[in-house]
Amino acid sequence: MISTHLETFRYFNFHVHKPSESNEGSVFFIQSYDINSQMQMVDGNSFFSIGMHPWFLKSEMIHENLAKIRAFSNHPNFLAIGEVGFDPLKSPSFELQETCFKLQADLAEEIKKPLIIHCVKSYSILLELKKKINPKMPWIVHGFRNSSKLANQLMSKGIFLSFGVSLFWEKHLQDLICTMPLNAFLIETDDSKETIDKLTSFVCKLRNITLEEFLLNQRTIYAQFFVY
Ligand SMILES: [Zn+2]
Repeated sequence: MISTHLETFRYFNFHVHKPSESNEGSVFFIQSYDINSQMQMVDGNSFFSIGMHPWFLKSEMIHENLAKIRAFSNHPNFLAIGEVGFDPLKSPSFELQETCFKLQADLAEEIKKPLIIHCVKSYSILLELKKKINPKMPWIVHGFRNSSKLANQLMSKGIFLSFGVSLFWEKHLQDLICTMPLNAFLIETDDSKETIDKLTSFVCKLRNITLEEFLLNQRTIYAQFFVY
């Protein structure tokens, strides 16, 4: 639960690894930490998510890590669990990735936090697990770059999408967000050097809407996800 007044923010950045220096006070951002490699970096001063990133899983650390994530439950700036997910191109075994995903999805339900999902080439398993787990908490795929067919499939199953800086050059993503309701997607800079104000302006131009209209919708989503 956050008591912060969402209307004091001009920009919303769903997922970042290093907060951008520009627009600092006016940007609502969620800084993402991997618990295996960045636990020491969590200062708790800004809103954050923490999770076992699929790239850095260690089977012997699973239960200790879950306990560490759970220990943040009551931290006022802890907003979501993540990144969690799948990447078969990386070395942690897929079996381990799936185990860690399920455990973190269950924990998200238990401590009532949305899930930030990193998903590479594994959307069928993600959809399968969505059906099986039937979560009450929002599941949000970050950095979505796939087809609009897949986007629609995910959305029809209640999975939300966040788009990154590839919007600047990927025509199919530009077309996709023009078909989506304004209160149904998020934007993020992830590990890019681009700034969220630039991405926001770009999206407003694409949609031919004012910044105010876009912000109104973003605030609605953030209030829905993070202010219960
Ligand atoms: Zn990321």
